[in-house]
Amino acid sequence: MNALSRTGILGGTFDPIHFGHLDVAAAARRALGLTEVIFVPSRIPPHRQMAPVASEKHRLAMVTLAVENQSGYRTSDQELRSDRPSYTSVTLETCVDTGIPPSQLFFITGADAFAEIASWYDYPNLLNLAHFVVVSRPSHAVSELRQRLPDLEVRMREAGTLASLDLRHDGTLIWLVDAATRDISSSDIRTRLARGDSIAQHVPPSVATYIERRHTYAARSMDGSLHD
Ligand code: ATP
Ligand code: MG
Repeated sequence: MNALSRTGILGGTFDPIHFGHLDVAAAARRALGLTEVIFVPSRIPPHRQMAPVASEKHRLAMVTLAVENQSGYRTSDQELRSDRPSYTSVTLETCVDTGIPPSQLFFITGADAFAEIASWYDYPNLLNLAHFVVVSRPSHAVSELRQRLPDLEVRMREAGTLASLDLRHDGTLIWLVDAATRDISSSDIRTRLARGDSIAQHVPPSVATYIERRHTYAARSMDGSLHD
């Protein structure tokens, strides 16, 4: 591992991936000078009441299509290959085991997801496995997090202060990135698809074509079971 490289990890259900996810990745990359961002679709999201609608195969394929031809972005099926639930802590430990030191690892989340961090598996220890990069989401500004998570305030930094940081010695921190991302969610996309509305403004053309051709979000069977 190059001593100067910085690896970003963006976890999510990606059901489906959309422009909001790509905006988050770009904002984090720009703010922290990340060398690459790896998109890691989750297998069994521990915080979800409902299982993902699209199968693992389809979610991975859509993420791969969305990031192909974009230098510095790639996809990992690390969580999908594992038998365990998708715990961020386990994913980050695996990255560290493969030789990426926590000081060069950056886990990216939206502010809505990070607001629930205290309920994540292995909290607060997982905060030592990587830097966390938290990006504002429409209606979830990162500026609210200092008040919402007072125990973590001491670790929070505005991303603009990175220049003065010695990443090797200053421990892992929580970087707040107040960037604009598009007001898009996967749930809204699924609702639009169920209504027959266009998603052209929400996902890259390759993903829209994939969904259309494979009927990825065609009606679920009446008993609610998932299709492949
Ligand atoms: P759902 O509606 O099914 O929850 P989602 O759009 O929130 O889907 P996720 O896969 O849950 O997408 O999100 C993965 C990560 O990306 C989370 O950390 C989430 O906060 C972040 N994220 C998703 N969309 C945005 C957005 N528009 N702006 C900022 N962050 C986002
Ligand atoms: Mg979400």
